[in-house]
Amino acid sequence: MVRPKKHLGQHFLADKNIAQKITRLLPNNNLQLLEIGPGTGVLTQFLEPRFGNKLHVIEIDQESIEFLKNRFPSIIQNIHFADFLQTDLSSIFQGQFMVVGNFPYNISSPILFKILENRASIPLVVGMFQKEVAERIAASHNSKQYGILSAWTQLFYKVSYCFTVPEHVFVPPPKVKSGVISLSRIDRDLKGVDSSFLLSIIKTSFNQRRKTLRNSLKGFISNSTVDPKLLAKRPEQLSPEDFINLARELS
Ligand code: SAH
Repeated sequence: MVRPKKHLGQHFLADKNIAQKITRLLPNNNLQLLEIGPGTGVLTQFLEPRFGNKLHVIEIDQESIEFLKNRFPSIIQNIHFADFLQTDLSSIFQGQFMVVGNFPYNISSPILFKILENRASIPLVVGMFQKEVAERIAASHNSKQYGILSAWTQLFYKVSYCFTVPEHVFVPPPKVKSGVISLSRIDRDLKGVDSSFLLSIIKTSFNQRRKTLRNSLKGFISNSTVDPKLLAKRPEQLSPEDFINLARELS
């Protein structure tokens, strides 16, 4: 067995039904699939029969890697011993691929940001996050939980909150509940706005979420003619589309 390591965010799912429920959220298409952080293969055992050698897994823990190579010899070349955050995904995949995982919670936001950076290759994501983070990613504007993760993700993906997973089905149990979400890529027209500029507008707006946009975006406004009604709003009142329009007027 693999000894769970806290610093790697290892909480192994011990409920096969939930594992199956997660993997069933992936469609049966012909695409390649990347599992991030397979651990001992709780999800992998349902993915490998369906996806065969279209499945790649990436895991940072050497002990888990040895375990996985013994358990899934038929995809041994696709078992990558690496840090997902440091990996150039084009070295593994040519073309489109889906992403799945019970993500390590300590780095779930950087994982999501990296997925978004690679959105041109990733049409679909099914992932388990800490429940509160999953809810934030899925939150719509005008809600308390709506923030950077929500607006930035929803610019490029339609997000569905699928179900909640209780603490006790993991070994060791985490301190918080988990939530499974699915992201399905949408074709969003950025209207010529540079995406890193757009991200900096979103981040700056939410850095002081209680302030109006006029105050938090002072440094960007200068001589532009932005609709004063828009600038009187707070960031949580802006839909992802509104952020595009705002960034276009500011650029
Ligand atoms: N999918 C398994 C394990 C989930 S725990 C299950 O459901 O039981 C999260 C897993 O992510 C652990 O196996 C951990 O070693 C791995 N992990 C942590 N950081 C990682 C990183 N940067 N890159 C790849 N895997 C990572």
